[in-house]
Amino acid sequence: MTLAVHGGPPVRSSPLPSTSDRSGRRLGDEERKALDQVIDSGTLWRINGSQVPALEREFADYVGLSGGSCQTIASTSGTSAVHLAVAALRLEPGDEVIVPPITDFGTVAGVLAAGGIPVFADVEEDTGLLTAETIGSVLTSRTRAVIVVHLFGAAADGAAIRAACPPGVRLIEDCAQAYLSVGPDGAPVGTHGDIACFSLQQSKHITAGDGGLTVTDDSELASRMRLFADKGWPRDSGERTHLIFGLNYRMTELTAAVARAQLTKLSGVVADRRTAARICIDGIADCAGLRTVSSADIDRHAFWLLPLLIDEPITVSIADVAAALVAEGVPAAAGYLQQPLYSVPALAEPSTFGTSNLPFAAPYSDRAPGYRDVRCPNTEALVKRRLIVVQINENYTEQDARDIATAIQKVHCACLDGTLT
Ligand SMILES: *Cc1c(COP(=O)(O)O)cnc(C)c1O
Repeated sequence: MTLAVHGGPPVRSSPLPSTSDRSGRRLGDEERKALDQVIDSGTLWRINGSQVPALEREFADYVGLSGGSCQTIASTSGTSAVHLAVAALRLEPGDEVIVPPITDFGTVAGVLAAGGIPVFADVEEDTGLLTAETIGSVLTSRTRAVIVVHLFGAAADGAAIRAACPPGVRLIEDCAQAYLSVGPDGAPVGTHGDIACFSLQQSKHITAGDGGLTVTDDSELASRMRLFADKGWPRDSGERTHLIFGLNYRMTELTAAVARAQLTKLSGVVADRRTAARICIDGIADCAGLRTVSSADIDRHAFWLLPLLIDEPITVSIADVAAALVAEGVPAAAGYLQQPLYSVPALAEPSTFGTSNLPFAAPYSDRAPGYRDVRCPNTEALVKRRLIVVQINENYTEQDARDIATAIQKVHCACLDGTLT
């Protein structure tokens, strides 16, 4: 069959369900009704509202973290959810937080805002995940925390990573892509960290457009996060004062109403993504040089995206493979990122605090600004040569998932027989 990218008929001519509109989202009467109730109440903010506090009470149970001992703080985005977590650690300027270079910018934005230095550890070559070893190789006496990202919905080894954190180094789990993912030890993501962060952005498993949730079982961290999200204002005390520096990251009642309706659908969304992913994975099992999530790991994965890894004997560039898949009607992208995070202008040409280079410069740190000495070969290989991500959606039918597998097979054949070069 002629590839669609060469003018042949595409495997798929009608669009697949997408998270950018109603086709790939489960938004309906439940959300509409909840919003109506908030409008009728006339209270749209959380301060004397009911929806945000209810969401904060319910959330931890829904994501498999023990609701009894955990506290949840709602905020405006996944980025703010991580910012709360970092702010609660009270970094000194130049303190270091270990992060992976293949993730959303929201993982590192809070570190920069808090005057900390994101220190990039490389990821495992086949998973894109931080490991105890890669973290160990960049730990210093200035390390205050590690932010582990459960990339694409695959859980990192939380227990091993926790064990690799020396006393006093906090572990933050960025679970924005990994609702209901389960680690190799059988524990849900978020179990091993001091703090776990989630996002309700449009493309995540559940959405309210934007929104964030931060969970912890440490009551001191929880109170600092609550203050930080509300300008340092101790609302319970009745005083009009500001105990710590904080921003306004308050979630609105409207967002929480939608989020609560979405939470009841979460386990179905993840189950249906696993079903769709299994059909794709089974369908491409025989493609030499193409690797993906192994069948044994499907039920631990949340499939925010389906990663495909290209190896020998395939020599076609990931850009060409992704373009061929898109032409066949499959939503795919090369590399996930255009470049590792340490190479984006915001980090390579640091401008967080004007032209001062702070906190990279003396007296706070002796690290070279701009990450010119960072070496993360596994990350570079994934982003530039090996990784393609395919969208998985809860609303895919069996036929949708089979079409994706067929398209991948077709493009794979063309890679091997030299038709796609
Ligand atoms: C989406 C995402 C964020 C940021 O969440 P927003 O709600 O978009 O601010 C942070 N980390 C990861 C891993 C993400 O996927």
